Amino acid sequence: MNIVELQQVEKRYQGVSALKQLNLSLPQGEVLGLFGHNGAGKTTTIKLILGLIGASSGQVRVFGEDPTQSEARNLRRKLGFLQENVSFYDQLTGLEVLRYFARLKGVSTKGCLGLLEQVGLEQAAKRRVKTYSKGMRQRLGLAQALLGEPKLLLLDEPTVGLDPIATQDFYRRIEQLKNQGCTVILCSHVLPGVEKYIDRALILGQGELLASGSLNDLRQQADLPATFHLQGNNLQLPDHLAANAVVDQKQIQLNVALTEKMSTMQQLMSLSGLENLDVHLPSLEDLYTHFIASQGAIKQEANS
Ligand code: ATP
Repeated sequence: MNIVELQQVEKRYQGVSALKQLNLSLPQGEVLGLFGHNGAGKTTTIKLILGLIGASSGQVRVFGEDPTQSEARNLRRKLGFLQENVSFYDQLTGLEVLRYFARLKGVSTKGCLGLLEQVGLEQAAKRRVKTYSKGMRQRLGLAQALLGEPKLLLLDEPTVGLDPIATQDFYRRIEQLKNQGCTVILCSHVLPGVEKYIDRALILGQGELLASGSLNDLRQQADLPATFHLQGNNLQLPDHLAANAVVDQKQIQLNVALTEKMSTMQQLMSLSGLENLDVHLPSLEDLYTHFIASQGAIKQEANS
């Protein structure tokens, strides 16, 4: 059974079509990155999975259940949610906040101090939240999401306000949870650095699914080139490669189809005078830009 299953899901708010025919099957232990511009439908998708709103049409199933049904109370215990721009009661200490949320969720308060340790807040556990920095509040938000050892974790902009080390710590924690069988959906506008921690990306544009798959799947779908940068003395490229090369004083840049990456690399390695060779594969950011731009181009064509 998939942990999350969306079939032909549509969501309309008065006059606004926020999601169109969305399909999603998310197996256990998978980390899904949900990406899209402002208003693309990411929060709507998360709210549907949490059961906070119902679909206008189509079917949403979480652990095999309809999350909007009242019997879904037990289901919510299996979920952890970190919302964007998290805010807490400023007068309470971090530990008090966490215990409060544990009671609301109906889980034991015993593990609260341990959770604060896990997110690096043990020293600040007994300080009032009003003295916390933005990153510390975000960590507290993450601890709150982890209450009750959730089986499905939904994280909206989880690394906002975190410094680079804390961001790395955060992703390491996600990796550990994944290895323990937790399924994770994370929305983010910050793409660099995310790709190595997600199994699959889903890119939304104006409520439509633009692309979905592993980084390799997306690279194949987008068919963007690999880019080589070469430096050396008097480099003479074979004619068929020279035709696609851009030469400046310092280096040669060469775009080749991904399918020809290895054969090109072998040819370049045997060039005399080669001092340095870098290869850049399309990053998640490159792919995201490609799919968003493709949707824009298709819409422009349809309107002209
Ligand atoms: P962001 O990155 O800005 O958070 P998002 O991808 O999460 O955006 P959603 O919040 O899901 O986007 O919004 C999708 C669309 O639905 C937007 O056009 C938004 O204006 C609209 N929308 C969301 N909530 C409502 C609502 N309660 N009433 C009317 N329209 C809404």
